[in-house]
Amino acid sequence: AAIARAGVEASPRYGATETGTVGYGCLAPETSDDLHLYHDLRALIQAGADGAAAGLPPRALLYSTLRLRAPLVLLNASLGDQGTIVQWACGCPLERLGWTTHLHTIRSFEKLTSGGMAFLDTVVIRVLEEALPARFGGGPTDYQLVEDESSEGQPRLRLLVHPVVGPLDEAAVADVFLKAIGPGSGVERLMGLLWREAGFIRVERQPPRATASGKIRHLHVERHAAAGLSSASPS
Ligand SMILES: [Zn+2]
Repeated sequence: AAIARAGVEASPRYGATETGTVGYGCLAPETSDDLHLYHDLRALIQAGADGAAAGLPPRALLYSTLRLRAPLVLLNASLGDQGTIVQWACGCPLERLGWTTHLHTIRSFEKLTSGGMAFLDTVVIRVLEEALPARFGGGPTDYQLVEDESSEGQPRLRLLVHPVVGPLDEAAVADVFLKAIGPGSGVERLMGLLWREAGFIRVERQPPRATASGKIRHLHVERHAAAGLSSASPS
């Protein structure tokens, strides 16, 4: 939404390191993330009702590679995203090239699990992208939640706010964040209150971290080196 407001047209490209590019933005899109699926490079199915046994929602997207030279061989692999697959005649040039399958409304179904509570990624992202900028200023990439551990190994959340946003009341930011991710009277709200009491979330003024490819993710996980390196290293 922020990109469209700036008068710029964005064309999405969707993919992951594991899959390569999955699809390219339709030039006559029906939704903001309407993509033409490169069905010649990989097969895509949805988990359907059987997915429940593997903990997958019915619209979970499962990829299989079709090309011999694919960097990774995947067989019905999930990236943690769900979406809608449709055939429709958009009339754009990509359709005329033969890519007639559309993929849209792609959303993560994974949850942020921290401090004993799971929040849907989509809810947390909406708060970081919309609620916080609306209240405190800045844009969608100025806020980032970093999950890491304290020196005692306790999970901890840090909410990074880019310094360009200007001076603000850090306690108020934490407060608005916790209220926004846990509205209503349910268990989320209770956890939000507990988190606030425990000082589990800390607001820090520093630029959000970008990945190696320069992408800013809303949720960034930092693990202390010891565990990760020893198991991953082949030596
Ligand atoms: Zn199209």
